[in-house]
Amino acid sequence: MARTVIITGTSSGVGLYAAKSLVDRGWHVVMANRSVDKAEQAAQELGISPSSYTNLYIDLGDLVSVREFVKQFRDTGKSLDALLCNAAIYMPLLKEPKRSSEGYELSMTTNHLGHFLLCNLLLEDIKHSGSPDPRVVILGTVTHNPDELGGKIPPRPDLGNLEGFEAGFRAPVSMIDGKKFESVKAYKDSKVCNVLTMRELHRRYHELTGITFTSLYPGCVADTPLFRNHYPLFQKLFPIFQKRITGGYVSQELAGERVAAVIADEEFKQSGAYWSWGNRQKKNRKSFVQTVSPQAQDDEKAERLFDLSAKLVGLT
Ligand code: NDP
Repeated sequence: MARTVIITGTSSGVGLYAAKSLVDRGWHVVMANRSVDKAEQAAQELGISPSSYTNLYIDLGDLVSVREFVKQFRDTGKSLDALLCNAAIYMPLLKEPKRSSEGYELSMTTNHLGHFLLCNLLLEDIKHSGSPDPRVVILGTVTHNPDELGGKIPPRPDLGNLEGFEAGFRAPVSMIDGKKFESVKAYKDSKVCNVLTMRELHRRYHELTGITFTSLYPGCVADTPLFRNHYPLFQKLFPIFQKRITGGYVSQELAGERVAAVIADEEFKQSGAYWSWGNRQKKNRKSFVQTVSPQAQDDEKAERLFDLSAKLVGLT
């Protein structure tokens, strides 16, 4: 029987190509999208066979919707082998925070809190699936790590002492460190939270459940719609810069292939690992386990982030 994976955000980019690659490997993909029609069209355009996927609604920026999605998924009667937390928003030009219906800053909600809730709710489903090799993968990125070339450009991520989460994360608070709103930093902070979440899920649940928890940086996929809210000139020059100057560029197809491998291949069955193919892309470059940023290595912070996030999403 085909193994089943839930992928968030398959209407474009890395998630779409990861879905295609997993279908090509014989998996059934449950596509979790806020733009269900757009995702349907994208799947058709890429030639993904309609019988190999199920397309369900989720808005990760709305925690009620995340809970509804889990109910909808359970109604399909499918057992769950893997979860891929891929969706994200990046709104670099925003001057004032947008907020979720709960009143939380929207990029942190979509990228971290929505996925945090989804992972926690679906842990039971994955645990009881009887899968021989259950996995949870959360997308990271190089910009979470100021020690890497791609992470050096300011503003750098800084979760502070989680003062913003501690204070309830509602207006006037908009940043996890309780400081002034900075849209680019909000995205980077959320990606540090993604890596910390993966590491804490591993620490709490790997031995208990046998689930492999991992994260990865698939390379700089400079031409996905992730950058659609940036200046048009940036959108034009960024891929050229990554291709010709930094050498960091990877195609959406290759990034999707890498993500699919981390979900499915034996060599990536190493819980707690953060996988990378390096900053400079070379033909046939091999993957390796990369050290995460000093903040993302902080076990005490991971534990507190987990507990505060659980409170904010209504799990405790
Ligand atoms: P895209 O913008 O192409 O894809 C993002 C996906 O997330 C889209 O399907 C989008 O749907 C979906 N999404 C956004 N908001 C929500 C929401 N509220 N609820 C449900 N789905 C939502 O970006 P990428 O493919 O580039 O990014 C995918 C992942 O890869 C992200 O986690 C990103 O951080 C990571 N990454 C990207 C890199 C890059 O260079 N591009 C590098 C390293 C990591 P919709 O069409 O409705 O907006």
